[in-house]
Amino acid sequence: MTACPGGLGWEGLDTDEGALAAASVDFGRVVSRRPRAIARPASAEEVAEIIRAANREECPVTVRGAGHSQGGQSLSEGGVLVDMTGLDRIGDVDAGEMWAQGGARWRDVVHRAYAEGYLPLALTTHLSVTVGGTLSVAGLSETTHTYGPQTDSATELEVVTGDGRRLRCSPSHRSELFHCALCGQGQFGAITEARIRLRRVLPNVRLFSLVYDDVAAFMEDMELVMEREYFQYIDAWCLPAARDVWQRFAGTMFARRVYVVNLIVEWDGTPPGPDEALEGLNYALLKGCADHSTIRYVTRTEGRTPLEWFEDWGQAHPSMEGILPWESFAGFMAEAFTELPGSVARTARVMLGPFRNERFHSPLLMRPATELLMGFGILIEVPAAGLQEVLPVLSEASGRLIAAGGKRYLSSWVDFTLEQWVAHFGEQWPRMVAWKREFDPRGVLNPAGLPLSRG
Ligand SMILES: Cc1cc2nc3c(=O)[nH]c(=O)nc-3n(C[C@H](O)[C@H](O)[C@H](O)COP(=O)(O)OP(=O)(O)OC[C@H]3O[C@@H](n4cnc5c(N)ncnc54)[C@H](O)[C@@H]3O)c2cc1C
Repeated sequence: MTACPGGLGWEGLDTDEGALAAASVDFGRVVSRRPRAIARPASAEEVAEIIRAANREECPVTVRGAGHSQGGQSLSEGGVLVDMTGLDRIGDVDAGEMWAQGGARWRDVVHRAYAEGYLPLALTTHLSVTVGGTLSVAGLSETTHTYGPQTDSATELEVVTGDGRRLRCSPSHRSELFHCALCGQGQFGAITEARIRLRRVLPNVRLFSLVYDDVAAFMEDMELVMEREYFQYIDAWCLPAARDVWQRFAGTMFARRVYVVNLIVEWDGTPPGPDEALEGLNYALLKGCADHSTIRYVTRTEGRTPLEWFEDWGQAHPSMEGILPWESFAGFMAEAFTELPGSVARTARVMLGPFRNERFHSPLLMRPATELLMGFGILIEVPAAGLQEVLPVLSEASGRLIAAGGKRYLSSWVDFTLEQWVAHFGEQWPRMVAWKREFDPRGVLNPAGLPLSRG
C-alpha cells in the first residue's frame, strides 16, 4: 500500500500544493513525507467515513493532531492525512471529569476546566498539542510523579478503529481497544473523544528554584520530594555550567553541569515559606522564589518566542527522549553527550522528570521495571543543514540509553530497525500485532509508522 488510487469518494479533500507542502513536515523537521491529500473532518462520523473509504480503496491514512511529533509520526507518505483539529469541542466539568474531542488543544481544555476551579491531572509543557495527539504517546508532565502521565487520566475513549468502526471503550468495557489506543501512535484507531479526570486546584503557585552541582544530591532530594508529595509540580533540567565558555571553545556541552529544579506548590491564603517547603532538602543554592497565579504558571509557554521556547517551525528539532532506571541515570549522564557539535551545544538542553513507576498503567508506555524512573529528553534546535552532524550523535546516545536499561519515549526522533522495535515493546509486541489484525486488518493506518504489519 503506497499511494491512494482514488479520491476516497470524500468531497472535502484538500490537494492544494501549499497545504500539502506544509503537511509534509512535523515539528521535528527531520523526516519529510508528502501526503496525496488532506482531509479535514468536523465530526467522528466523518472520520469514520474517511477511514472506511480508505479501507475500500486500500489507501493509507495518517491521523494528525497539531503535528508536534519530532520523528515523522504524524506524516503520510502518498496517503491521506486526517487533520483532527476540526474535532475541537469540549464538554463541561461533570463529576470531576470532562469530555474533549480528539482534536481539541489542551490549552482550551485547561481554560475551560480552570474556569470551574479544576485542571487536568497532567499537562505537557506546551499546550498547543491535541488531546488525541498526546494520548497517543503518553503525555509526561511536571505532575506525573503524583498523577501519572496524561494517558492515566483518560477514563473513557471514543475511537474510530482502522476498519472504520466507531466504538466506545474504557478500562472495563472493550478494554483491549482502550489499552492499545492509549500510547498506540495512531496505529489502531483515531481517538475522536476522551473523558479526562480533573483535580481541584488552588489559585496561586509558589515556585522555588534550586540549583544542584552534584547529581547524587539532586537525586536524593528528588526521592524525598516524590515521597512527600508536597509539591504538585517538578520542573527539572540539566544545564551546562559556564555554558558560553565551554560551548564556544570546546563544543563540549556537559564538561561541567548543574541541575536546576523548580519545585512548585499551589497555595491559597498565606504562601508557604522556604523553611517549611524545603525542609530536609540538600540543594547548593536557592536561586529564587516567585509567586504566580496557577493559570499563568500552567499556560506560561503560550505566546513565547522561539528563543525562549522551541517553536520555530523553520528549524529542525531532532530531540532524543527516553525513560531511564533511577539507578543508571547518573552513569548515563556521565557518559552521554560529553561532546556535541558546537552549533548544537549552543541551544541544546536537557529536560528531566523524576517519576514513580507505580503511577504508570498504560501497557504500551514502555518503561524500565524499576520503582523509580528518570525521564530524559535532550531538546535541540538546528538548521536542516546541521542534521547530518547531529543525528549520529543522537543515535549513539539512544543506544547508550537502551544499554543502560532505558526505553525510548516515542514522540521524539527514533530510527529503530524492525528488530529494535520488537525489542522495545518486548512482550507487548505480539499483542500489538494481534491488535493490529483486529482493529486495522488492512493496515491502512500509518504504515510508515510502526512496522506492525511486518511483525
Ligand atoms: C514544544 C513541545 C513541547 C512538548 N512537551 C511535551 C511534554 O511536556 N510532555 C510530553 O509527553 N510530550 C511533549 N511533547 C511531545 C508531544 O506531546 C507529542 O509529540 C504529541 O504526540 C504531540 O501531539 P500532537 O497533537 O501534535 O500530535 P501529532 O504530532 O499530530 O501526532 C503524534 C502521533 O499521534 C497520532 N495521533 C494524533 N492525533 C491522534 C488521534 N486523535 N487519535 C489517534 N492518534 C493520533 C499521530 O498519528 C502520531 O502518531 C512536546 C512537543 C513539543 C513540540
